[in-house]
Amino acid sequence: MSHSDGEVGGIVGEFFALKDETDADYLVMQVGDFYEFFGDDAEAVSDLLDLKVSQKSSHGSNYPMAGVPVDKLTPHLKQLVERGYRVAIADQHETADGHAREITRVVTPGTLLETTRADAQYLAGVVRTDDARYGLAFADVTTGRFLVTEVEGPDPEAAADRAFTELYRFDPAEVLPGPEVRNDDAFVERIRERTDATLTLHRADAFAPGRATHATKEQFGEETLASIGLDGGSRGAGGGSPSGGDRPQIRAAGALLSYVEETGTGVKSSMTRLQNYEGDDHVSLDATTQRNLELTETMQGDRDGSLFATIDHTATSPGKRLLKEWVQRPRRDLPTLRRRADGVAAFANSALARETVRETLDGAYDLERLASKAAHGSADARDLLRVRETLDLLPAVADAIESDPRLADSPLAEVAARPDREAAAALREELAAIVEDPPGTVTEGGLFERGHDDQLDDLIDRHEEAEEWIATLDDREKRETGITHLQVDRNKTDGYYIQVGNSETGKVPDRYDRLKSLKNSERYTTDELNERERRIFRLEERRGELEYELFRDLRERVAARADLLQSVGRALAELDALASLALHAVENDWVRPELRESGDLDIEEGRHPVVEQTTQFVPNDLRMDEARQFLVVTGPNMSGKSTYMRQVALITLLAQIGSFVPAASAEIGVVDGIYTRVGALDELAQGRSTFMVEMQELSNILHSATDESLVILDEVGRGTATYDGISIAWAATEYLHNEVRSKTLFATHYHELTTLADHLDRVENVHVAADESDGDVTFLRTVEDGPTDRSYGIHVADLAGVPAPVVERSRGVLDKLRQDKAIEAKGGGGDSGGTKQVVFDVGSGELKTDEGASGTGNEGEKVNESASETDAATDDSDATDAVREEFGDDAEAVLAELAALEVSDTAPIELLNRAQEWQERLDE
Ligand code: ADP
Repeated sequence: MSHSDGEVGGIVGEFFALKDETDADYLVMQVGDFYEFFGDDAEAVSDLLDLKVSQKSSHGSNYPMAGVPVDKLTPHLKQLVERGYRVAIADQHETADGHAREITRVVTPGTLLETTRADAQYLAGVVRTDDARYGLAFADVTTGRFLVTEVEGPDPEAAADRAFTELYRFDPAEVLPGPEVRNDDAFVERIRERTDATLTLHRADAFAPGRATHATKEQFGEETLASIGLDGGSRGAGGGSPSGGDRPQIRAAGALLSYVEETGTGVKSSMTRLQNYEGDDHVSLDATTQRNLELTETMQGDRDGSLFATIDHTATSPGKRLLKEWVQRPRRDLPTLRRRADGVAAFANSALARETVRETLDGAYDLERLASKAAHGSADARDLLRVRETLDLLPAVADAIESDPRLADSPLAEVAARPDREAAAALREELAAIVEDPPGTVTEGGLFERGHDDQLDDLIDRHEEAEEWIATLDDREKRETGITHLQVDRNKTDGYYIQVGNSETGKVPDRYDRLKSLKNSERYTTDELNERERRIFRLEERRGELEYELFRDLRERVAARADLLQSVGRALAELDALASLALHAVENDWVRPELRESGDLDIEEGRHPVVEQTTQFVPNDLRMDEARQFLVVTGPNMSGKSTYMRQVALITLLAQIGSFVPAASAEIGVVDGIYTRVGALDELAQGRSTFMVEMQELSNILHSATDESLVILDEVGRGTATYDGISIAWAATEYLHNEVRSKTLFATHYHELTTLADHLDRVENVHVAADESDGDVTFLRTVEDGPTDRSYGIHVADLAGVPAPVVERSRGVLDKLRQDKAIEAKGGGGDSGGTKQVVFDVGSGELKTDEGASGTGNEGEKVNESASETDAATDDSDATDAVREEFGDDAEAVLAELAALEVSDTAPIELLNRAQEWQERLDE
């Protein structure tokens, strides 16, 4: 064992010196056969990795120390890194005067090659320009994928939102913020709070335009930037600078490349292709929406129950990654979508070919990751065998597609034809030399079939000959010596030996030299055996060396074809993803949506793709067009409002990944973005949201959505007092209707908003129906035109066991309020009646006064504190007079008390009492 006490003083000192050199979270240092953590690092990792801490003394002080054997480092590293830590590794090497140690690599969440993560593992770089454009670069070292894009916005805030959205979509394991971004506290905070990514401050000069351009060209080729349109200045900036280096995505890309290089992971060579994608082709899907729609995990953080988990039937992990990417990145360009849907349709119509393809793919391995391992030099013979076996599948898959006329004419045939099949076959042939069942080590031979290399064949012949001699030795010796219990064998310590049972040791000839005595036998060797043994060992050593050399050669040739493997891998993944969508469509009676450039949404008998799996689902229609652009959705709690709205969003999204959709028929005018504000109440209750967050989300929607977007609002303004809330909801509706003109679904418990349909052209009411008889409420789950005619809150209160007198009294109050036709909500759109309303809201249990949202904003008016400020002021004194006339002189006092009441701080029973008291005063 290595850490002898004499050495420790120096070692601890050396550790801390190296620790000063790195900004990694932890340092682990090789000390002989162990990797050791010292000091605080030892304390910290011992908890994380469940290691024992011992104390090492050095210069009179004790230092905590925790270590793992050299060959156990990788799994421990993986654990640390997958939890988001960056770990520097200092290896030990021999020098003329003993040992020296230096940091050889830093393993980080974004550059971990031995990942156990099934998803893509992105390292992201983000850069901002002075004029608030963002450059993003994403690299997955495990697959060699490398993508860049540029994001801008109408204003800096919107640009930042979009950049964050794009970042979030990739779910990066590690983010390198550029110099400007790291000084943007809000942006950094968002990354910290809303992603699981590790933030790493890579040196700022790596982001400098000149260096970054150089690094990018060096990696992807001199001509690459020009060929993907990145040699100019900013896009759309009218020509831009000729220097080529100020495209922010190139700055981000260059920084990533230098970081990958500096971590010493050695996987740069698998990154063969730089893809510049236009965010414009994609549907804008902000982080909140991805979460709200439960695309890849539920709000509770489970994968099961997400859209992706529901529709995923892929056979391979690359197929799974690709399908997930599609779900996270829906598109709006019709050609791509139609091509995918054609592919899905072809697979849907041909069960036999689909199953053949799926079964074939079942044997496929992850070519993209194998290519990276080859490039990294960590692929073993089994990995290369996997490459071969996967390449073998390509002709079979292509054949299944080409031999079925329905598939042969579809885009599936194009996908299958995309990789260079001849090159793939040639590479496969080169790999033919790997044996069927190679060992896990690559240095001890046994990797290659005969016929691969003459010199190796010769070695194998001689080795076999020598082994043959050994194999027949026991027979010869038995014959010669007459010993019956004699066997020839080999082990690590003794090499080859002849073993003779104790009863017959007397017959052992002189030429036998005794090696050792065992309990019942003796072991011997002979000069001849020794000679043969030496020869065999020499042959084995040479064979091991030669095979390793040949193997490395072969591995390098595979690595050099990383692009080919990536292209085969991508094609197989795409077929897998399309077959998976087809299978789900067939099994669940989904239909192909009709896609249009923009415009109407017409869904017949639509269903929620996830809820329909577990529920007897009641299908619902949806029609939105020029005249029905904004739907106010009302209905009792738990009637199905959220489900209906989400199902619309999910059907649209599915259509825009190229999938079939859960409906009897669907016409989808493609949208440029889906925005949601969902679940205020649930989130608030769980302390996961605040009113501030709610408003930030609303603000983002109002800023970002366009007339081609789909907006889903599930309660707005619940996080604040009723007055505020309804005013904000009202004003947001007007803004979305008049200015943004997005297709909007708005579920609200503010019944007042249903009157908006009377005042705003394109606003319509729909409600989720419920049936009430014998005091029971039955949810019908059907969506019908018009507002809910009444609220079911009191029935729910009754069902929940609220004492009968309270329920009865509620009914009385409600009836009274309903009869009071003089008190009604006033719509928007310039009606200047200035009527007041007093509403006991059975949905929320709150008591509130309201001016109708179009009341005045005059602060001198006592009763007016809740009024929205969106409309022109009306004549206050007229209004006050009208109230006084209607309810007598006490009315003002009542309203003032009402206005001053802190609804949320008052117990419901107290509210009831107050309401009763006020009514009595008004009745007088
Ligand atoms: P709300 O938003 O009105 O409070 P939800 O949308 O949360 O109601 O739905 C309440 C429950 O009703 C959920 O458990 C949901 O699964 C179920 N549900 C909603 N819509 C349907 C439907 N069309 N068919 C069957 N069950 C439904």
